[in-house]
Amino acid sequence: MSSQTPPSVHVSQHPLVAHKLAILRDRSTEPKKFRELVRELTWLLGYEAMADLATRAEPIETPLQPMEGRRLEPRVGLIPILRAGLGMVDAMLELLPTAEVWHIGLYRDERTLKPVEYYNKLPDAATVQVCLILDPMLATGGSAAATVDILKEWGAARIKQVSLIAAPEGVATLSGAHPDVDIHVAALDSHLNERGYIVPGLGDAGDRQFGTFAGPGSEPGHGPDDETAEVVRRLQRDIGG
Ligand code: URA
Repeated sequence: MSSQTPPSVHVSQHPLVAHKLAILRDRSTEPKKFRELVRELTWLLGYEAMADLATRAEPIETPLQPMEGRRLEPRVGLIPILRAGLGMVDAMLELLPTAEVWHIGLYRDERTLKPVEYYNKLPDAATVQVCLILDPMLATGGSAAATVDILKEWGAARIKQVSLIAAPEGVATLSGAHPDVDIHVAALDSHLNERGYIVPGLGDAGDRQFGTFAGPGSEPGHGPDDETAEVVRRLQRDIGG
């Protein structure tokens, strides 16, 4: 990690994470295997991301004697970013079957280039204390920062972002806007290309999970569209890249 990496960023050092991530990145990994790896990596990153959750004492009785056990204190909400974040939900629910899952949908307005909310069924007041935002790729960070804005307004006390791969541009956007949000990733990659893909990355995490390859136009190596290229240039100027 570079000396400029904010303290809120946690890059997993676990060898299993590195091993699984290498297979995930490989262009020859098929969607079925890709989905399995997303699930396994989410499990491992979720385990690390929840390492500091508070617990409370609770008396229990083993078959041998009474003792004091510990139970998780906060209620946890999972916030998958549509659509690629959906593949991370089941693994998190295996770790934490009582977690609530709240979906928030955002798209980028073509004129303002700002994220616009199109789906949000959050109740008026927060029902959970800790929110985990799930998105395999933290690329520009625009959706992540906007999601945190929504969750803070909702009343979430603590928010963490869990991603498989982050770009420095996305980390700068999210941690600049919300330095209190921990960011847990399997890897922090080199940069965004002019199409907004993380390099070296793994391509489009949604397409690779769901097998939706629409031809060369949708592939990471294809030419930039002007808007995305402008967003990426602005982000790179902001972080002096
Ligand atoms: N979203 C993806 O799926 N991949 C990237 O590299 C960036 C954003």
